[in-house]
Amino acid sequence: MSADIPLLPFEQGRHLLSVLQFDRQGLQALLNLAKAVDPIAKRQAVCTVLDGAMLCSLFFEPSTRTRLSFESAFLRLGGEVTTTTGFTFSSMAKGESIHDTARVVSGYSDVLVVRHPEEGSVAQFAAASTVPVVNAGDGTGEHPSQALLDVYTLESELGARGKSVDGCTIAILGDLKYGRTVHSLMKMLSLYEHVSFRLFAPPSLELPQSVADYAQARGHSVTVLDTVVEAVSSADVVYATRVQRERMTEELAQANAKGDLLNRAMLAEADNLGVVIMHPLPRDSRPDAYDLSTDVDDLPGLSIFKQTDNGLNVRMAIFLTTLGVGLDAVTLTTKQRPWKATLRP
Ligand code: ASP
Repeated sequence: MSADIPLLPFEQGRHLLSVLQFDRQGLQALLNLAKAVDPIAKRQAVCTVLDGAMLCSLFFEPSTRTRLSFESAFLRLGGEVTTTTGFTFSSMAKGESIHDTARVVSGYSDVLVVRHPEEGSVAQFAAASTVPVVNAGDGTGEHPSQALLDVYTLESELGARGKSVDGCTIAILGDLKYGRTVHSLMKMLSLYEHVSFRLFAPPSLELPQSVADYAQARGHSVTVLDTVVEAVSSADVVYATRVQRERMTEELAQANAKGDLLNRAMLAEADNLGVVIMHPLPRDSRPDAYDLSTDVDDLPGLSIFKQTDNGLNVRMAIFLTTLGVGLDAVTLTTKQRPWKATLRP
């Protein structure tokens, strides 16, 4: 993150750039808010609390769920959205700087959501913006809203099994070097007590030492395992990740094009078919992509689409927080919907 932007606690009027802006209390407040807006996220109720507010989303890297869920979250709270995707269709293709782009766009909007391929770039947007900026992924840096929805999902899935995030064992697999979601998640989980991280990464894609040090310095155990089966056995949760091919050389990408990272046979061998299965998505479903196999999709712990659904709740809570909207105002502007959005069986 750029040193220009101090990482102040996330609250009304603040940018959201890093998971380091949360302490345990601030995290819990955001998760509680995310839970409270569940009827709006599930479209059982319609809310207009952000009537008149404008979100601008600027995505300079590919995205499906992050952009659409941020935009859906804003729309479901009654706001409006403008968007630009890719460098080609913005004036950055004409050489405009991050500073000028941010200053211009913040003149049209009440909040910006930005994804950009360079680490620290979203903090540069924030430094020039006149409205709050939310980091939707800055290169290999951070992805704070993903970590928030991951933790929200961990709380609900482990809670439903009579377990807690404090003291849990989580296996984290795959590209731990370039995967920004892993870096953000491990730092955010470091706010809890006694988490055991069991890591497996292929050669050259190991976790940066600084992230392991961060967790260990806060009392958590970080164990690197030689195989996926060893990492997963005894875990409460497995968090699989995609090889970030866009961030590496073709040679390294090729070296990591081999079979499955995690499949049903491995979970069976680890005697852990009931484990909670998470993934930030997208899952690379091409042959030999070295990712999570679809043969785990009917297992009871599969939570990957719960994560994507929970993303709406968490992103609503982010907007409500930075725009200073309390639950009272949400309740006052919420009504039951008169329509149905369910398929007949
Ligand atoms: N969607 C996540 C991200 O933007 C994970 C991924 O792309 O593999 O970082």
